[in-house]
Amino acid sequence: MTNVKVVEKKHLFINGRDVEADNYAPLYSPYSDEVIADIAMADEHLTKEAIKAAQEAFLVISKMAAFERSAILEKVVELLKERADEAAEVIAIESAKPISFAKGEVTRTIETYKFAAEEAKRIHGETIPFDAAPGGVGRIGYTVRKPIGVIGAITPFNFPMNLVAHKVGPAIASGNSIVLKPASQTPLSALYIAELFKEAGLPDGVLNVVTGSGSVVGEAIIKDDRVQMITFTGSPAVGIGIRNKAGLKKTTLELGSNAAVILDKDTNIDQVIDRCILGAFSNQGQVCISLQRVYAHEEVYDQFVEKFVEAAKQLKVGNPLDPETYISSLISKKETERALSWIEEAKQNDAVVLAGGKLKDGILEPTVITNVDPLLKVSCQEVFAPVVIVNKVKSVEEAIGYVNNSRYGLQAGVYTKNIDHALFASEALEVGAVMINDIPTFRVDNMPYGGVKESGTGREGLKYAVEEMTEMKLIVWNRGDK
Ligand code: NAP
Repeated sequence: MTNVKVVEKKHLFINGRDVEADNYAPLYSPYSDEVIADIAMADEHLTKEAIKAAQEAFLVISKMAAFERSAILEKVVELLKERADEAAEVIAIESAKPISFAKGEVTRTIETYKFAAEEAKRIHGETIPFDAAPGGVGRIGYTVRKPIGVIGAITPFNFPMNLVAHKVGPAIASGNSIVLKPASQTPLSALYIAELFKEAGLPDGVLNVVTGSGSVVGEAIIKDDRVQMITFTGSPAVGIGIRNKAGLKKTTLELGSNAAVILDKDTNIDQVIDRCILGAFSNQGQVCISLQRVYAHEEVYDQFVEKFVEAAKQLKVGNPLDPETYISSLISKKETERALSWIEEAKQNDAVVLAGGKLKDGILEPTVITNVDPLLKVSCQEVFAPVVIVNKVKSVEEAIGYVNNSRYGLQAGVYTKNIDHALFASEALEVGAVMINDIPTFRVDNMPYGGVKESGTGREGLKYAVEEMTEMKLIVWNRGDK
């Protein structure tokens, strides 16, 4: 079915070349359990070799002109456009992301590198009005933004190409070098992109991909003094551990959530069903801003539940390489078992499963649960599976209380035609971003993106990631003799 070459062994990518490791581990397809490739498992020594290469390459990339860095990123855009179908298959095979969504991820990855290429050309500081202070008279000065050095990037499995792009793109745009540790389940997308950068003329050592386990490779990157910043996307538990160990290193943490949408009483239900299906079930719900909780006003609740359940039951479950498939396997059997146990807990506590809740050919069906107590795991923790809860509320204000009663705060959505309700919600919701008349799952790649509470710190989106990956430096000229 696929024409992607099955590569026996995938090595580390250090200093622009393939480097063998002492150990390799089989990579299995989450859907078929077949072995896809043998992946190098780096140890601490090899990780340090990658950091050394990045440190040396920083001297090259940090002196490269903005137009040259931009041109390399533009070239990657071109190459990825040419190979978009092949790249989508890589994503689908290693992560079981249905191919239609994998193609969507490649399209977004292209946009992300395009934005990075554009951003490379507008990194600048500002002039400072020194004479605003009596002591500053006779001075002129300005800030510049300097790259910070070696960036350690640690990425998750759920968007294995675009979330790598959100780290590699701005790092190169701003003149930094990178040691990238992709998720163990999805190393192929990262290695694929590294090859494109080599072809695009990126100097050796600027991008290094070190595959292996989080506790070995990740820890070695975090502990190393030559690494100036850790940019991490993944689970809150690992993110908090990184923050505790990072010391004075800069950290950007893009973590999880249990994102919610509020449906006010004037919502046109027919217009929101498709968006809510996409928000809840794309990539099997394995999206950090996946729609996990719906709070529907009592006047529209019954209508929404009926139509949403009906639509959820229509989604095709199956092989990720089938263009008709909407839902495929979760990333591992362990995750499937966990999601099932959370659904079981809900059932034991008076919640009602109206769709799904069980496996079909080993795949968790799209699941809709109502009447869910806020303390149940499917509501208060990040479910990261095709599971959505729908609860009835009497007002937008009551719904906001439920949304905010969460450890997380990434994004939230509110459907309403009432501008007072929209304004109130946009101010009161404790999240990184509020979507008025949309689902919380909305994202384009240039917007500032990040959360509050246990959803993380710092922002991605090219311009904002470049800010995080550069240091401000002030230059002051004394033009008088004082
Ligand atoms: P994860 O288990 O936290 O893993 C993320 C990365 O951290 C992987 O590369 C993993 O390596 C590595 N890692 C594991 N233990 C480590 C350690 N002790 N030190 C350093 N690195 C370590 O997350 P995941 O299951 O891949 O991804 C799902 C999570 O990511 C969800 O919580 C989701 O919400 C979040 N996410 C957030 C965003 C956002 O932008 N806010 C976007 C996407 C996903 P191994 O694979 O080798 O364990």
